[in-house]
Amino acid sequence: MSAGRNGHVAGQVDDTLPEDVLLDIRGLTKHFPIRRGLLSRTVGQIRAVDGVELQVRARRTIGLVGESGCGKSTLGRCVLRVYPPTSGELLYRRPDGNVVNLAPLREQDLLPYRRQIRMVFQDPFSSLNPRMTLLQIVGEPLKVTKVVPADEIEDRVADLLRRVGLRPEYIRRYPNAFSGGERQRVGIARALALSPRLVVADEAVSALDVSVRAQILNLLKDLQETEDLTYLFISHDLGMVEYMADEVVVMYVGRVVETAPTDELFERPLHPYSEALLSAVPDPDPTAAKRERIILRGEVADPSQVPDGCPFHPRCFYAQDRCRTEPPPLREIIPGRQAACHFADELHLRGIPEAAVSSGR
Ligand code: SF4
Repeated sequence: MSAGRNGHVAGQVDDTLPEDVLLDIRGLTKHFPIRRGLLSRTVGQIRAVDGVELQVRARRTIGLVGESGCGKSTLGRCVLRVYPPTSGELLYRRPDGNVVNLAPLREQDLLPYRRQIRMVFQDPFSSLNPRMTLLQIVGEPLKVTKVVPADEIEDRVADLLRRVGLRPEYIRRYPNAFSGGERQRVGIARALALSPRLVVADEAVSALDVSVRAQILNLLKDLQETEDLTYLFISHDLGMVEYMADEVVVMYVGRVVETAPTDELFERPLHPYSEALLSAVPDPDPTAAKRERIILRGEVADPSQVPDGCPFHPRCFYAQDRCRTEPPPLREIIPGRQAACHFADELHLRGIPEAAVSSGR
């Protein structure tokens, strides 16, 4: 691990997290500079993630939702420390109970955490090297980190394949011998190879046929139980999030605009943006009375030119004068539920009745 000779742990902070919190994201921002001209002068900032506060509880699934360009994937990559955050803290509870801030750590100090926080990629076709066998693909992290003796890697890979529902006899085959769903199982086996604690699944089933999505989602759920996993499940598809997540975090232009237990968000959203996203969830029962879809005006705001006041106001059907000048803070509206809307306590927004969602599973 990253403990030094005198017991010092790089990034350790004198902080206590609630017992069940694995990751506490505090004030996280990720800005990308816009450079122009011969001298590459910085002329602006893309505020991809802007002051995100979020607690990820152990062995739970957080669903991160929003339209394309709302910052959810950038947030996932900051958690993985693929992107170094511009500011803010990523407080992570180590297996020994100590809390470290991953945000400022240098690459060498991040190594132990790279084993504990892994990613399942979106596209099982491009994320697997076609020239490597399953043994090489899944065994690579074991080989690089030397956590398993070289002569035991094959047994470990065979066991991982079994755990994700693939036959160990396939171990010397190449990815092109497999379907999309099977390839995603290989990707999951690779993510599990180092026994992670937190898995970031970014659109993990979006590239798959509808017919195999449910199988992969069920596999992820089963593995959560057997491997004690915590998921950050990033998706633009609220139907899948409803199936997978215990809690939902809705993002808009790099900010969290609503957090809620999944069933409560679906039943009654508190933010107009959540209401619009929910209205686009297809109705699984064609005989049911049609739910009215809310068609939002325009596109997600440009994160390099975030509107004044509430960033959602140019698209919001409930906007009032105050919304154009005063940014609404994310605040608790009712116990366990937060929203960033001045009028969240007054609006009566439409969700999806429980029966309509459940019947779609
Ligand atoms: Fe709409 Fe105003 Fe609420 Fe923003 S603060 S979501 S513009 S009602």
